[in-house]
Amino acid sequence: MGRVGDYLRRFDLLTDFMRGHGGAGAARREIEDTLARREQHFLEIAERAIYSNAANPYFKLLTQAGIDLAALRQLIGENGLEGALQHLYDAGVYLTIEEAKGLRPVQRDGVDFLIKTADFDNPFLTGDFDWQSSGSRRAPPRTWYAKAYLEHYAAYFPLTFEAFGLNDRPVIGWRPETHEFAKYYVRAGKAPVRWFTQRRLKWDSESVRAVLLDVMAFVAARRAGQRLPWPRLVERQDAVHVARALAHVKQSGPAAVVDTNVSSSVRVCLAARDHGLDISGTVFRVGGEPYTPAKAAVLSSAGTTAIDFYGTMEMSWIGFACAAGRTQDDIHMATDKIAVIAREKASVAGTAVRGLYLTNLMPTAPKLIINLESGDYGTLEERDCGCLWHQLGLNTHLVDLRSYEKVTSEGVTFLGGQLQTLLEEVLPARFGGSPIDYQLVEEEEGGGLSKVCIVVAPGVGPLEEKALVATVLETLGQGSRGGTLMSDQWRQGETLRVVRREPYVTATSKVLPLHILSAVTGQAATPSDKLSRKI
Ligand SMILES: [Zn+2]
Repeated sequence: MGRVGDYLRRFDLLTDFMRGHGGAGAARREIEDTLARREQHFLEIAERAIYSNAANPYFKLLTQAGIDLAALRQLIGENGLEGALQHLYDAGVYLTIEEAKGLRPVQRDGVDFLIKTADFDNPFLTGDFDWQSSGSRRAPPRTWYAKAYLEHYAAYFPLTFEAFGLNDRPVIGWRPETHEFAKYYVRAGKAPVRWFTQRRLKWDSESVRAVLLDVMAFVAARRAGQRLPWPRLVERQDAVHVARALAHVKQSGPAAVVDTNVSSSVRVCLAARDHGLDISGTVFRVGGEPYTPAKAAVLSSAGTTAIDFYGTMEMSWIGFACAAGRTQDDIHMATDKIAVIAREKASVAGTAVRGLYLTNLMPTAPKLIINLESGDYGTLEERDCGCLWHQLGLNTHLVDLRSYEKVTSEGVTFLGGQLQTLLEEVLPARFGGSPIDYQLVEEEEGGGLSKVCIVVAPGVGPLEEKALVATVLETLGQGSRGGTLMSDQWRQGETLRVVRREPYVTATSKVLPLHILSAVTGQAATPSDKLSRKI
C-alpha cells in the first residue's frame, strides 16, 4: 500500500506548507538570506553535483575548458558571479536551446556529446510536491519539487501583496490548476474567496488523482485555520461567470486580485465590457504568456491592471513585476535564485540582439542549469526604483523583454515581438476582433514539411481571407531579412491558409502566438512553451 503512504505523506507536507505562514517579515528574511548566499549556493551545486559526476554535461564542458573547482572559486572571487559566468561562456561553458533539447550535439574543442533531459536533474532532489500540466489527452510529464524550493517561491506571495499595496484585497483564482496554486495563497494567509477551475474532469486516473489532491488541500487548509472554497468549473469561453464574481466582490468592498493567465485575464475584461459589468480596480496576477501592450490595453479599458511574472519551464519563476514600474515591461530578476547574463546573438532575423542566458542557483531546484540560452532577449540594467524588490536587494531590472522563436522547419528565425505586433495589433485593427483572436499554427506533416495556418476565432465574423493572408505576408516581410525570407518561402509554397476556429491553447491553458501541432499525436509540441518567456 505504498500509494496510500505516499498520499498521507503528501497530506502532512501540504498541511505543514500551508501552516508555514510567517508573514511578510519571514518572507523578507527568506529572500535576503538566499540572496546573501548565492555564490555559496552556486559553488555548493558545482562541488556536490557537477564536479563529483563525470557524466554531467557541465562537468564535461568545464573540464574541456580546463576549469576545476579551485579555478571556479577563484573566478568568482575575482569577477563576481555574473563576471565568472561571462568567463565560462567565453570558455564554451553554456548550452543553446537546441543543444539542451538534444536536437544538436554539444560540440566544443575536444568534446562532442548529446544531451538527455535527465542530465539536468538534480541528484539531491527530494520529490515532495509534483506539478503536472493538465488537460491534454496523453499523460504529460510530471515535475517534482522539493518543499524547501516551493517555500522559497511562496515567500514572494505575501511580498507581492505588500509591494503593490494589495493586503486588503480578496483573492479569486481562475486556472486549470487548483490545489497547485491555492496552497501559496493559504500559506500567505490569503485563502482565495472563490476558486474557478478551467479543468474539466474526466473518468480517468488523472482526474481521480486531481480530485483527491483537491480534497487534501481543502482539509489541509482547514487544519491551517483557513477555508479554501471548493473549485467550480468555468471553462475559458465562459469568462463572464468570473467577471460577474468580480463585479459582485467590488460591490461589497475592495476589488479582487485574480490569479490567472494573460489570455484569461483578457477574456474576463472583454466579457465584462460585453455585459456591462463594472470590474474596475481588479488586479490580475498573471504569468504564462507575454503580457503585451495590446493585451494591457484591453485590461486598461476595463479599468483593471495586471502584475506579470517571468518564468521558464526549467527554472519556474525568475522575475517579478516592478511595483514602481514605468511600463508593464519592467521586471526585477530574482537574482537570489538565478543569475542572468546577456550575450550578443547576431543570427536572429539579421538583427543583433542580446540573448539572455540563465543559471540556477538553488541547491533545492529540480534542474541544475548553467548558462542556458533562454530564447529571450532584453535589456538588463541596475536601477534604484525604490520599490520593495529593490529594498530586498533584487536590483537587476529586465526591460523590453521579447522572445525570438524558431518559426519554420526551413530554419528561418524571426523575432517573437514581430509576431505579437501582427497578431495583436495589425490584424485586429484591420479585420476586427481582439488581441486573443488570432494565432499562427504550424502543422507538422510527414517528411519534415510543415504547413502554416492563420487561425482566426469565429467571433471575428466574416472576413476577406486573401486580404488577411496578404497582410500577414506583408507585415512579416517588413523590417527584417528573416521575415522577408520566411514570407517568400510561404508565398512560394502557398503554405499559408486561414482556419476559422478558437486559437489553440497549451495544456496549461496558455494561448501562444505560434502554436505547433504535431501531425503524429495532434498534441501541442510548442517549443516556446518549453524554453522561453512565460511572462
Ligand atoms: Zn522596482
